[in-house]
Amino acid sequence: MAGSIPLVDLQAQYATIQQEIEQALQRVISTSQFIMGPDVAAFEAEFAAYCGAAHCVGVASGTAALELALRACRVGPGDEVITVAHTFIATAEAISAVGAKPVFVDIDPDTYNLDPSLLEQAITPRTRAIIPVHLYGQPADMPRILAVARAHDLFVIEDAAQAHGATWDGQRAGTLGDIACFSFYPGKNLGAYGDAGAVTTNRADLAEQVRLLRNHGRRDKYVHEVPGFGERIDTLQAAILRAKLPHLAAWTAARRRLAARYDQLLAGMGLILPQVAAAADPVWHLYVVRCPDRDALLAELNRRGIGAGVHYPLPLHLQPAYAHLGYRAGDLPVTERVAAECLSLPLYPEMSDAQQDQVVAALRELMLQTQPD
Ligand SMILES: *Cc1c(COP(=O)(O)O)cnc(C)c1O
Repeated sequence: MAGSIPLVDLQAQYATIQQEIEQALQRVISTSQFIMGPDVAAFEAEFAAYCGAAHCVGVASGTAALELALRACRVGPGDEVITVAHTFIATAEAISAVGAKPVFVDIDPDTYNLDPSLLEQAITPRTRAIIPVHLYGQPADMPRILAVARAHDLFVIEDAAQAHGATWDGQRAGTLGDIACFSFYPGKNLGAYGDAGAVTTNRADLAEQVRLLRNHGRRDKYVHEVPGFGERIDTLQAAILRAKLPHLAAWTAARRRLAARYDQLLAGMGLILPQVAAAADPVWHLYVVRCPDRDALLAELNRRGIGAGVHYPLPLHLQPAYAHLGYRAGDLPVTERVAAECLSLPLYPEMSDAQQDQVVAALRELMLQTQPD
């Protein structure tokens, strides 16, 4: 009897690194350096090197990273920021949190990332920044987005929360725009054991602003240069992330192998499989297929113990939280169609071929049932 298969399996990963994690926790606890300290500085240096970025600033979460990046770019009340509606709500919440207005553009029907051809028409005199999301681990088309941004003097803030190590033309997420935001939420490709995030950038001025803002606006203990925030990265989380970072390359390789295996095994079943832009090398935070009868397929997979999920069923422009922006169903047709049809299949580095075969077998059987011969 086949066992149940989760969407992600954090316990399976912990089992492979238990000693390193315990040593990292012990190191922090035994020195009682719970706030900032050497583990935070070391993690920032190591993650900056991993991305190939000049600077990394650890912060409390991916959401905090987005909010502080916007503040560092001096985005505030009265400003507009262009982003996508097919993403986790934190992308837009950060824009709202700084008092600016999210402006949603539609996505590319193949990659599900921001469609650069729609940017020009979304720009107004109030536009200050663009936040492309590297959704599911695939970088957005940054050269085209940057070209429009440069022509209109706009900041480009990468939402790289799902894209640790992903590349466009060989260059890593975190270095593709003016400033980038990472989440280390436990289920992300590099996950902490609680909330954590980081900002990376090649611009010293932006890094300096985020550094100041995350820690109550201070450089010195008792001198607060600006009213800031309590949004530091937790030191225990930084220590855990340091223990995990050396494994990230192998975990990404495992995800890529499983994604290629899904591509092969799912071909010809009637599902729309993920499309990758020629210049992109994704890190497969999620492996997302499409099928018109998504809800029935999801329910049946879940009934069989297969932890498929949906990212994301209700686009941001149609969320109650953004009703005041006045969008209507039909405004973002590609986004709405993908939201209705997308299905995330189980994928995590420790997944075995046998587990993946079980997911594929269930899909094959269910797709045969639903196909009108
Ligand atoms: C996870 C995620 C965030 C928010 O990160 P948190 O660490 O949970 O605050 C933002 N954007 C995207 C695309 C995400 O997937």
